[in-house]
Amino acid sequence: MLSNRAKNIKPSPTLAIDSKAKAMKASGVDVISFGVGEPDFDTPENIKEAAIKAIRDGFTKYTAVGGIDKLKDAIIEKFQKDNALSYKREEILVSCGAKHSLYNIMQALLGPGDEAIIPSPYWVSYPEQVMLAGAEPVYVRTFEKDSFRLEPEALREHITPRTKALILNSPSNPTGLTYDRRSLEAIAELAIKNNFYIISDEIYEKLLYDGTEHLSIASIGEEIKQRAIVVNGVSKAYAMTGWRIGYAAGPAQLIKAMTSIQSQSTSNPTSIAQMAALEALKGPQDSVGSMLAEFGKRRKALVEGLNSIPGMRCPMPTGAFYAFPNTKALYGKSPEIGSSSKLAMYLLEKANVALVPGDAFGDDDFIRLSYATSIKDIERGLGRIREALARF
Ligand SMILES: *Cc1c(COP(=O)(O)O)cnc(C)c1O
Repeated sequence: MLSNRAKNIKPSPTLAIDSKAKAMKASGVDVISFGVGEPDFDTPENIKEAAIKAIRDGFTKYTAVGGIDKLKDAIIEKFQKDNALSYKREEILVSCGAKHSLYNIMQALLGPGDEAIIPSPYWVSYPEQVMLAGAEPVYVRTFEKDSFRLEPEALREHITPRTKALILNSPSNPTGLTYDRRSLEAIAELAIKNNFYIISDEIYEKLLYDGTEHLSIASIGEEIKQRAIVVNGVSKAYAMTGWRIGYAAGPAQLIKAMTSIQSQSTSNPTSIAQMAALEALKGPQDSVGSMLAEFGKRRKALVEGLNSIPGMRCPMPTGAFYAFPNTKALYGKSPEIGSSSKLAMYLLEKANVALVPGDAFGDDDFIRLSYATSIKDIERGLGRIREALARF
């Protein structure tokens, strides 16, 4: 019955573990979840009010497919202010979440015969979206010792005449690490020289620690800006995952094609959510700071706790809200915990702690724990993990 495309697609593995944890919870088990990739905070009040006002005002009809002009202008302002990037309205597309922006990019940019380079560990949707466009993902392994940054030398080795795009994600999900200027400059130079595009997923831009600064690869120079598509959104910075507003900025010709694709699938993103996103971008920003301060405390508690567990080694993340410990030393201790997914399953069943195995992100040596959860649960969860692993 199914098309080959449908047969080959995998459901998001982070959602799979989450649904098992939810089922356990529903049956009364006290599961502590480090699995989900969304802030646990409520959407700020001013943003909710803007949406309620939109409903009351009757702003409940179709809008322009690619988003209302006011929101596009707010996005343009954001790029100017935060990233020193100048865009025009025809270089912006608002979609139903950053994931949808990425999907539109893949559909508009990639096709059979094209290769898209994906540094691994990677966010779970990149390979599937590349394949849904009929193109081929080409993985380049990155290493803990390099802070999981894509090394220009390794990138160069994977470039072929078919390379159409490179997907970058900084700050990164799952590693929590960020790119510095030098690495981005070297990568930009290779993209220009070899004539490929950079899809830069910057959804965690606002979640940075220890004075780390965000740099968009598109802002390095005019030449790379012409080959870069920047993806961002309101989900992570403003605790708005359910509202589904993301956006992309890039060359007008590509944005136009993406808008056409969107016009034949979802049409405009929800009118009400667009008004909420407008308030998120233009309204007071203090909620971002207070959420970040809280994430910062949790990050320390979780990473220090993980490093105190024998067999785990966790670098301090500089962005996003994930810890990504190396758990390879545990695998040799027993077949029961002999891989990242076995370890994750063991911890879910024996310790009632949910987390995501590294193989979901293309690297079995690691597991991912989200610290978008309370300090209290972090402490309790760490205690359970420590106890469950003590017998090995
Ligand atoms: C959460 C996430 C997204 C998607 O965000 P939405 O705007 O909610 O679709 C995109 N990229 C990465 C790396 C993410 O973690």
